[in-house]
Amino acid sequence: MGEGATKVGLAFAVVCRLDPGEDLVEGIKKAAGKHKVKSGSFNAIGVLRPARVGYLDKSTMTYKAIEFNEHVELLSCIGLITQKDGGIDVHAHLVVADKDGNAHGGHALDGCRVDVTCELVIYAFDQAVNKKRVPGTDRYLLDV
Ligand SMILES: [Zn+2]
Repeated sequence: MGEGATKVGLAFAVVCRLDPGEDLVEGIKKAAGKHKVKSGSFNAIGVLRPARVGYLDKSTMTYKAIEFNEHVELLSCIGLITQKDGGIDVHAHLVVADKDGNAHGGHALDGCRVDVTCELVIYAFDQAVNKKRVPGTDRYLLDV
């Protein structure tokens, strides 16, 4: 088991508003592209409807989707923006709360849509951080 790390500096931060109907992960990716963020980290809060989070089934290395069709509070969305195969990759995890305040969470899957608003802050690094494919698999790991 290896361990890698690379030291980066913070170049700038961008404060963004995502609007109703926008896909959360796609919206983060678009904001990163628009503001020339090569890599960075982010956090976001707001409201989603629907929300789709994934739980990794390690036997198949695929995500079991957990779906919320009522609106949920986006309590916390955090993740990493990296470069993968020449483009921007967004890896996001989120915690949402239902109408009773119960928290649910997981890997952010496509299909999470902003409802009401989403407040996103991206912290851009001063250099690109890459992901590279694990040979013989469809998995990508940080190249650090
Ligand atoms: Zn994940």
